[in-house]
Amino acid sequence: MSINKNEIPYKIYLTEEELPKQWYNVRADMKIKPAPLLNPGTGQPMTAEELEAVFCKELVKQELDEDTPYIDIPQEIQDFYKMYRPSPLVRAYCLEKKLGTPAKIYYKFEGNNTSGSHKLNSAIAQAYYAKEQGLKGVTTETGAGQWGTALSMASAYLGLDCKVYMVKVSYEQKPFRREVMRTYGASVTPSPSETTNVGREILAKFPGTTGSLGCAISEAVEDAVTHEGYRYVLGSVLNQVLLHQSVIGLETKAAMDKYGIKPDVIIGCAGGGSNLGGLISPFMGEKLRGEADYQIIAVEPASCPSFTRGTYAYDFCDTGHVCPLAKMYTLGSEFIPSPNHAGGLRFHGMSSTLSELYHQGLMEARAVEQTSVFEAVQEFARVEGILPAPESGHAIKVAMDEAKKCIETGEEKTILFGLTGTGYFDMYAYGTYNDGTMSDYIPTDEELAASIANLPKVK
Ligand SMILES: *Cc1c(COP(=O)(O)O)cnc(C)c1O
Repeated sequence: MSINKNEIPYKIYLTEEELPKQWYNVRADMKIKPAPLLNPGTGQPMTAEELEAVFCKELVKQELDEDTPYIDIPQEIQDFYKMYRPSPLVRAYCLEKKLGTPAKIYYKFEGNNTSGSHKLNSAIAQAYYAKEQGLKGVTTETGAGQWGTALSMASAYLGLDCKVYMVKVSYEQKPFRREVMRTYGASVTPSPSETTNVGREILAKFPGTTGSLGCAISEAVEDAVTHEGYRYVLGSVLNQVLLHQSVIGLETKAAMDKYGIKPDVIIGCAGGGSNLGGLISPFMGEKLRGEADYQIIAVEPASCPSFTRGTYAYDFCDTGHVCPLAKMYTLGSEFIPSPNHAGGLRFHGMSSTLSELYHQGLMEARAVEQTSVFEAVQEFARVEGILPAPESGHAIKVAMDEAKKCIETGEEKTILFGLTGTGYFDMYAYGTYNDGTMSDYIPTDEELAASIANLPKVK
């Protein structure tokens, strides 16, 4: 059957046979590799053995593998993926019409599973390797709650115990997320808590703090290393997570190739970088190999602007300084973003793979203000139907900005963006926007300089 390229359906799906059977590791095609994780005590690259005290063995192998381009997806993970994948690649015909743009807009929608986001793609992989290793359970942190939910689902499926440290402000603002996690059998503790040494120290140093991802990570790591049969798992930032999330980009590329579509601009929101890293992976691979060129834009909140206002340096991944050092664009591990910011894009650092690609000028970044994000999200929701997560709204905002530019220039650009999840648990934030009480908090240069001054000294 030949396909008329002018008649592109609203949704492009792949058949089960067309689903990716391997993940793609973009580091294999990078000439300059991302900087290695360092042991904060010795300043030397972390060895597999050191990492295995905290992380599952097979995941450590994936974390350190910068040479193998394709890694097989175990059959059990492929089967789990089939319950909710492929995710649709949607042509935003209704949005194009509403905007009156000559641009062609596509989005890859990752919200069609109960966890409501792309996080499940890596949660099932990480839980699978923990189970394979014969562990009892996993510990983790969650910010907005999507990662904790995804990991609870994956752990329940595989019969693993799951302990989640949830950033206190989200724990209070999103009680229903907590109940979803508990329904899937996870235990949920608001962070900082009194249950860990590092939690008690943080509470003593910053009384009344609403918490941050950095604090919750420290607590989850401490819990894992002090309990036999447990390891810590992380929902973003790490190379292994970008690897698992490459399923998003591989599906997108396969769907586009079916119809001979080539994106000019690829846009994604960036918290720790996993959805964006996953979406762009195969496209970036072509770019690195000199086979094609794409404009790639990371979108971050103006309240937590790691790429656009951060420093490229070694830093701690967590507030309690129990994790290895990563070289990344960072705002400093003591930076605690304003609790006014609604989304989950609140991590002080960024994936070291994306940081290196950004440093090499292979991608760009933009920071956008919260109220402008919700304005775009509302316009999008009213024509495309989906109620997006505020995080996803950052990508929507910039995709719409780019489409509007095409109205002026008359260019028929093809714009692709990642729509990472749904916003049903974010109605508190939607409420403040609807009431006109939502605020944009942008950190001052002095605040950023103060937290950057505390970067660890690495030669
Ligand atoms: C976690 C999350 C993000 C941000 O995380 P990344 O690792 O940067 O992808 C974005 N959108 C949704 C819906 C999320 O749950």
